[in-house]
Amino acid sequence: MLRLLSRAAFGAFVFAAAAIPAAAQDFPKRNITMVVPFAAGGPTDIVARIVGEHMSKTLGQPVIVENVVGAGGTTGSVRAARAQNDGYAIIMGHMGTHAAAVSLYPNLAYKPDVDFEPIGMAAGTPILIVTRKDIPAKDLKEFVVWAKANNDKVNMAHAGVGSVSFTSCLLLNSILQTKPTQIPFNGTGPALNALVGSQVDYMCDQVVNLVPHVTGGTIKALAVGTAERNPALPDVPTSKEAGLAAFQVTAWNALFAPKGTPKPVVDKLADALDKALDDPAVRKRLLDLGSDIPGKTGRGPQALSTLVKSEIERWAPVLKGTTIN
Ligand code: ASP
Repeated sequence: MLRLLSRAAFGAFVFAAAAIPAAAQDFPKRNITMVVPFAAGGPTDIVARIVGEHMSKTLGQPVIVENVVGAGGTTGSVRAARAQNDGYAIIMGHMGTHAAAVSLYPNLAYKPDVDFEPIGMAAGTPILIVTRKDIPAKDLKEFVVWAKANNDKVNMAHAGVGSVSFTSCLLLNSILQTKPTQIPFNGTGPALNALVGSQVDYMCDQVVNLVPHVTGGTIKALAVGTAERNPALPDVPTSKEAGLAAFQVTAWNALFAPKGTPKPVVDKLADALDKALDDPAVRKRLLDLGSDIPGKTGRGPQALSTLVKSEIERWAPVLKGTTIN
């Protein structure tokens, strides 16, 4: 009897051990959907398409971007958290959806550090303060004076409560002690269009879709919230140089799979992302757009898991008292 049992147990063990690598070996057998929780044409969408295109080559299957918009990126994130955990549905999240949103939505339907398997960081994205081109302020100092004097008229664009643009400008407004009218969009692609059309006054966003507009003069960049100037926009001062050292903010985009996605599958996705970030053409595209490419130690599931936890903690005190139900 004992013998029989142990034989059965051994058989089950062999079966399990063999089954996981086989599933991973076969993966992927069909299209992978990469959820982008914001509109097309914004930073998250752009980063997703750049790395997704290269990941398709490594994985041998198309990586298809699906824009699932709403509620500052949390709608798409809920969808991704609840998707089948087989690696065929992943999400390009960011500092908002996978960190700041925790402090902004007390009833958030997912826990970024619990309900996802981190795959890896795709890009660091410095934050720029940008305005419509015809704003009556030539630099950040003049903008501050103008924004305070016109507190009841000024309006600010963002990509919904919980988004990076919302969170970054919340920080800016709290430093300036201003309360602009807020105009939400489904992503900062459409928000940028409104800024170019001078329908909104300013926003704080990830550098990724701003560079050509700043250099082309269709919008103005007042400062970047990092310690160093951005190599893609060397003429734009840091917030410290521009007189607002307290505005220090940078964001990131990263890939996640639903909780319970088998480790060998996550590893394959992480490897494809790693290869994308090593590719000279991908690197050039990301760098030309002003993003930072994570170094080898900043990549992969473990580094992203650590980042998400520390970012949730970093934003909690900043966003305290601004909960949205
Ligand atoms: N950058 C946006 C944000 O504010 C979202 C987007 O990528 O469109 O979170």
